[in-house]
This record gives sequence, C-alpha cells and structure tokens, in this order.
Amino acid sequence: MSGTAIAHESTPTTATYRAAVVRAFDAPLTVDRVQMRPLEPGQVRVKVEASGLCHTDIHAAHGDWPVKPAPPFVPGHEGVGIVTELGPAVSEVAVGERVGMPWLGYACGTCDYCVSGWETLCLEQKNMGYSIDGGFGEYATAYARYVVKVPDGLDPLDAAPLTCAGVTTYKAVKLAGTHASDLVAVFGVGGLGHLAIQYANIEGGRVVAVDITDEKLRLARDLGAEFTVNAARDDPVTAIQNLGGAHSAIATAVSPRGFEQAYQSLRRGGTLVLVGLPAENEIDLPIFETVLNGINIIGSIVGTRTDLRRVFELHEAGKTRVIRETRPLDQVNAAMADIEAGKVAARIVFEL
Ligand code: NAD
Ligand code: ZN
Ligand code: ZN
Repeated sequence: MSGTAIAHESTPTTATYRAAVVRAFDAPLTVDRVQMRPLEPGQVRVKVEASGLCHTDIHAAHGDWPVKPAPPFVPGHEGVGIVTELGPAVSEVAVGERVGMPWLGYACGTCDYCVSGWETLCLEQKNMGYSIDGGFGEYATAYARYVVKVPDGLDPLDAAPLTCAGVTTYKAVKLAGTHASDLVAVFGVGGLGHLAIQYANIEGGRVVAVDITDEKLRLARDLGAEFTVNAARDDPVTAIQNLGGAHSAIATAVSPRGFEQAYQSLRRGGTLVLVGLPAENEIDLPIFETVLNGINIIGSIVGTRTDLRRVFELHEAGKTRVIRETRPLDQVNAAMADIEAGKVAARIVFEL
C-alpha cells in the first residue's frame, strides 16, 4: 500500500505532551512534557483517555527484572484512547476509533509463534510502556496491527484494566484447563486476581481466593469466590488441601512464597500457572513430588489480540466487573506506593 494515499495533518515535530516518565530506576517518576514522536509506517497516534496502573509498571519503574527497560521511558500498557492520526500505510484502524494498547505492542507477524496463535512469544516483540513509550501520557504511539478496538458500549475506564489484567488472567484460566466444578485457587486478589476469580467462575470453576488482607478477601467473595484464605493468618496449603486440593492454581501474588504455597495447594495432576513476576526471581519446587504427583507447571504471559477481543465481549455482555478507582496522572508516585503497600482495592486507573 502506498503511504501517500492517506491524507492527514501530521503533528509538527516540535509538539510535546504531558506524560509520566521514568528517568532512573532509583528515582520517582516525573510528570512533565515529552516530545511527540513522528509516526513510523504502521503506527497511529492515540489521545489517551484512561490508563491502568499494572504492577508491571512498578517493576518497570524499579528495573526489577532481568531484562530492563532503558530510561527515560513512559510506562503504561493498559492505555485506552481515540486514534487521532494515522502514520503511513495504516489500514487497520481509522481516526476517531477507540482502541486499547496492550503490552504486546508489536510482533513480527510471520515467525512460527506469530502464525500459530502464539504472537505473545514472538522474539521480535516490542512492549508498550517498556520498549515503546506507553499509556501514561496524554498521547501514545502504537502499531495499528496490535491495538484492539474497544466496543462502543464499554466505558474506557473499564476497558483499561481489561487490556492487561483482564486479558492476562483470561488466558491464564484458559491455560489452566479449567472445567466445570474444578477447584481453582487464585493467589493474589489485586488487579489481576480480581479478574482471574471471575474468568474461573465463567468456566464453571469453584474458586478459593488467597490474599493477605481481609478487605481483599471480602472483595473476592463479592466477585464470586466460594472460599477465601487470609495467608497472613492461616496456612493456605492446609486450608486448600482440606477442600480436596486445587485442580489448578493461578499465582498472581507478587511474592515467591505465594507461588510455593500455590504449588503445594494442588491435588495430584493439578496445574500451577505462573503469572506474577516478583522481583525475587526464584521459587523452590521439589522434583520428586512434581513427578510422582503428575503436576503441570505453566508460565503464562499476557494474551493475544483474540483473547482481548473476547475479554471485551464478556465485559460488554455484563459477565465481568472491573473494580477500579481513578486518579490524576500527577499522583503516579503516590499511586505506585499505595499499590505496593496493599492499600488499593484492585486497580488504579489514571483519567487523562
Ligand atoms: P497487584 O499489586 O494489584 O496485586 C498483587 C496482590 O498480591 C495484592 O492483592 C497483594 O495483597 C497480594 N499478595 C502479596 N503477597 C501475597 C501472598 N504472600 N499471598 C497472597 N497474596 C499476596 O498486582 P497486579 O497488577 O495484579 O500484578 C501481579 C503480578 O503479575 C505482578 O508481578 C505483575 O508484574 C505480574 N503481571 C504478569 C503478567 C503476565 O502476563 N504474566 C501480566 C500482568 C502483570
Ligand atoms: Zn500489566
Ligand atoms: Zn513473530
């Protein structure tokens, strides 16, 4: 396709926008003006309306993981907004459409992973808010092929958390192979966990939710968890084994201890799905018991564009609830601190 076929008023190269920027891993974010980038072929500019704060953004800002982003960068991979400008050779979306900009910001589209429904494993991938400036700003640039249209009936403030927390846990529950009446243990009832409970219920699973505060567990029951365990008070392994052991455990807690307990709470033949990404990168699992008990261990990274479409459809159909509070972007550092201190019900969404 010829890039000259698209008539658009391109943004002047001197233009700037307000964004939250990580300038160093050991310093608070700054909220100031950054340069608009010229659009490359295949890219669109999006005026951000809402942007969820995922715990991954906190790991990114701290440089917690073995593969680190390069400051300065703008975090955010739950950005939702309106397309305002098309770069050359864009045909997938139109100006005026509302889109979500997920973690998988770009993939090659042709490797074995991409053509077999595993684009999330593409080695050429770029990630929003990590290797591409993300949704914590008034604008973001995204690759048109990797944004996902948000149905008209969806509130952008709900669509934002669904764009990572939703799609990630939808996929994790799918990989857990949940069947009706399975006991599904959800470790961590935060942004991810509160949605994991709901997707497990949609599959017909019976949910036992584990967290370390009573408020989180009240929310879990409200969202359909049949059993809850406060791991700060009671041993979740004993409690879940007393229920017969979990068919699957979805570990979203930002704590290796939570992963080990999730493993130990499984029944024979059970499946542990690793989803959370704590800074401490190791867990201790026994070989003998894993073999003899026929345990499956799966790592699960976000979900595909198809998964996200399903997540939006389920929400539009009234099957899920997003628990979120809105804050202005100026409060980004306080918002991150509140999440780390466990003071947030489930998700913070910046309203821009
Ligand atoms: P969050 O802070 O909203 O939720 C974490 C929850 O874990 C909190 O409710 C906290 O109280 C609870 N918790 C902490 N210690 C616990 C313990 N020992 N036992 C039980 N619960 C405990 O975070 P989030 O946004 O839901 O993200 C969770 C993790 O998932 C992060 O590490 C994030 O980077 C990761 N993540 C992974 C993917 C993926 O694709 N695999 C996608 C998004 C986020
Ligand atoms: Zn995320
Ligand atoms: Zn690829």
